[in-house]
Amino acid sequence: MRIVLLGAPGSGKGTQAKQLVDQYHIPQISTGDLLRAAVAADTPLGRMAKAAMDAGQLVSDEIVLGMIRERLAESDAQRGFILDGFPRNLSQAESLDGMLQDLGQPLDLALLIDVDFDVLMQRLTGRRTCESCGAVYNVYSNPPKFDDRCDLCGGNLRRRADDNEETIGNRLRVYEAQTTPVVDYYRRSGRLRTVQGVGEISDIQRAIRRILDAVGRGEASAPAGAGEGAAAAVVARRPAGGEEATARKKPAAKKKPAAKKKTAAKKKAAAKKKPAAKKKPAAKKKPAAKKKPAAKKKPAAKKKAAAKKKAAAKKKPAAKKKPLAKKKSSARKKSAAKKAPARRKTAAKKGVRRRTPRRPK
Ligand code: AMP
Repeated sequence: MRIVLLGAPGSGKGTQAKQLVDQYHIPQISTGDLLRAAVAADTPLGRMAKAAMDAGQLVSDEIVLGMIRERLAESDAQRGFILDGFPRNLSQAESLDGMLQDLGQPLDLALLIDVDFDVLMQRLTGRRTCESCGAVYNVYSNPPKFDDRCDLCGGNLRRRADDNEETIGNRLRVYEAQTTPVVDYYRRSGRLRTVQGVGEISDIQRAIRRILDAVGRGEASAPAGAGEGAAAAVVARRPAGGEEATARKKPAAKKKPAAKKKTAAKKKAAAKKKPAAKKKPAAKKKPAAKKKPAAKKKPAAKKKAAAKKKAAAKKKPAAKKKPLAKKKSSARKKSAAKKAPARRKTAAKKGVRRRTPRRPK
């Protein structure tokens, strides 16, 4: 079984992961634990990671992915694993899928342990861990019998360095911002299962087991298991298990897009039909619409012609001016003609004759 365990800091991932280790005999791989070990051993990687961890920020993808790649290559991880605290962002989730694809070991499911913010705050501030055996207690919900002493080995109980309120607030904000897209990523690919992580640990554990059993049986879905204390498992789509199941999962994952494609195809066809149906009337309307403006143009043309005629009519008087000019010249001639006889008449009255002067002989 290859499982990614998702949940905010304090959601109980670590506690549940330990129980799954016993049940499935597969290792729990916690990036937080690996990083803390590197910090404690003061390795170069640990030194690089420390500042980000102390501030409640995520350590760089490069460091974490390198660490995970190495860990997944170890022999105990070949039968399966429970990834705890990884992936923490979308890029890590995609890289993990790539890594597992290369190894031919696809993920079976991503299990989200869902817990309210207020509960998370109380759990994180009250969390105490045994320095010797790693047993986890909570001063509010799961206190040790003796203060600061482990019930199991008597070791010292310590509060984790990043379990102070300021860092906790930061870690929760970082989780909200960066890990929510991871949850969506697994939901979209049909690999997400959700369990409500509030109530008795054993109830939550049972709910998780029901989910994993359903996945192991290759069931497409399983009924939600609501135990006492509101430990309810909400089972979504069945994830794939191994290559065969992956082959089964792929068509399932493709079904949605196929259905979408069909609806999209129908819409397209409908869209095509509609315009086609519209086109015909539109085609009829268009010529009509064109005719109308054309019909309108004619009056305009008529108007133009009328205007031209008017203009021409106005010009005609101008053309008549020429006859006027002719009239003027003819009038002049007439007056000249009238004047000439008048002169002749005066000359005749005076007895003046026009004679060619005689030359002396
Ligand atoms: P955890 O024990 O999972 O709460 O992790 C403790 C701290 O280790 C986180 O606050 C981060 O600083 C760092 N860390 C753990 N896992 C990752 C991861 N997958 N990516 C980046 N940083 C991580």
